Amino acid sequence: MFPAGFDYHAPNSLAEAVQLMGNLGPDAKVLAGGHSLLPMMKLRFAQPSHLVDLRRIAELRGIRQVGDEIHIGAMTTEHELLHSPLLADKVPLLVEGAGWIADPQVRYKGTIGGDISHGDPGNDHPALMLALDASFVLRGAQGERTVKADGFFLGVYSTQLEPGEILTQVRVPIPAPGTGWSYQKLKRKTGDFATAAAAVLLQMKGGNVATVSIALTNAGPTALKASGAEASLLGKPLDEAALDEAARQAMAICEPTPDLRGDVAYKVAMAGEMTRRALQAAHARTGQA
Ligand SMILES: Cc1cc2nc3c(=O)[nH]c(=O)nc-3n(C[C@H](O)[C@H](O)[C@H](O)COP(=O)(O)OP(=O)(O)OC[C@H]3O[C@@H](n4cnc5c(N)ncnc54)[C@H](O)[C@@H]3O)c2cc1C
Repeated sequence: MFPAGFDYHAPNSLAEAVQLMGNLGPDAKVLAGGHSLLPMMKLRFAQPSHLVDLRRIAELRGIRQVGDEIHIGAMTTEHELLHSPLLADKVPLLVEGAGWIADPQVRYKGTIGGDISHGDPGNDHPALMLALDASFVLRGAQGERTVKADGFFLGVYSTQLEPGEILTQVRVPIPAPGTGWSYQKLKRKTGDFATAAAAVLLQMKGGNVATVSIALTNAGPTALKASGAEASLLGKPLDEAALDEAARQAMAICEPTPDLRGDVAYKVAMAGEMTRRALQAAHARTGQA
């Protein structure tokens, strides 16, 4: 299948890209890794008149520590996340998450910015971003704004990005030392999207849950923050009863779409099971299990 015709633009700087997007209007789309956009264009689900390729823009790449945050350029690839010593040290949840995405070929081209901007509830970064309480820097002709991941994802393929705006950077607070982490994902085969997945960050104090963050992938029209499950755990030991209740609370917010990966009941049950497993794995990594 071939996409409809389009004009191709390859700016060398972010300023040039923002100006192009402003001038070209709503029929223009930015091209990052192309692993979601090009299939959609071939299927004619998307027919942009202009593609603005971000690949030449060096300032959109890279992973660096700035104070108590990690800043990641939107064009940083999944492969780069997976092999980043800085992330392995400071935000290992992101390394584990990147390892679950697609396959090495897709990870070599697919970008963190594209994964987030696409607004696909099956993508893994949205839930990772919710769990990490990340923020996104968005740049458009009107200027720059920073928005929280929580609230950014509005629906299937829908985010707070306005036409012409470019996601330039992802900002992730560095979890405190002793924070356990885990991303547990059920998928049918290598390269598949999640049937269901759960991201967890966890801190224990005196044998009880001190802080916990839980987010779900592919369990609804967007990534979901499992706030009820989080609240149910605070101040308690992470025993079987607590895990049961957290899984029950997580399942209660799920509204998955049935597809070849499973019907609604199966997907909801798997979201609960991934929550349970992620909590257990994160607990073991706190060093206080
Ligand atoms: C076989 C296969 C398996 C996959 N499995 C998984 C998986 O398991 N988990 C997962 O998370 N993903 C998976 N993906 C998707 C993959 O991670 C994509 O790379 C990702 O969804 C989009 O990133 P991209 O850089 O390719 O963006 P593109 O495809 O280039 O762009 C996607 C959309 O985002 C917009 N966009 C891109 N970058 C920006 C930006 N900086 N600012 C504003 N808008 C932007 C584009 O205009 C487009 O609308 C899979 C893809 C394939 C082909």
